[in-house]
Amino acid sequence: MRETEYEKLLLKAETTLGTISAIFFLITLLLITLFIPSDSLPFWVIFISSLILFFIAIAICLEIERVTGWYECGKCHHKYVPTRKAVLLAPHMGRTRYLKCPECGMKSWNRKILSQQTAEL
Ligand SMILES: [Zn+2]
Repeated sequence: MRETEYEKLLLKAETTLGTISAIFFLITLLLITLFIPSDSLPFWVIFISSLILFFIAIAICLEIERVTGWYECGKCHHKYVPTRKAVLLAPHMGRTRYLKCPECGMKSWNRKILSQQTAEL
């Protein structure tokens, strides 16, 4: 498998994991609010457990997105892998994130690029 295909597969896996975990979390919330009294222990055990699972899935998604390919600086076109903290805190539209470039130090919208630089996501 070519590197770009592998990266596309990873990003698809990220999207799938994010979607499934969000749906699972919302359905769990709906079911417990409908059928379990909110002042009972099982409500909070299920709620906290599903919240933790959801955050773990989101953390995995963010890490997949961070390490797959690179981000390209909107100002100087430097390609880099940002820190976990930067990815977590950066505003984003799809996979394009508002990040500070480690090369030129400017903040700009950085797009995600894959190995061959041609595929924009
Ligand atoms: Zn830059």
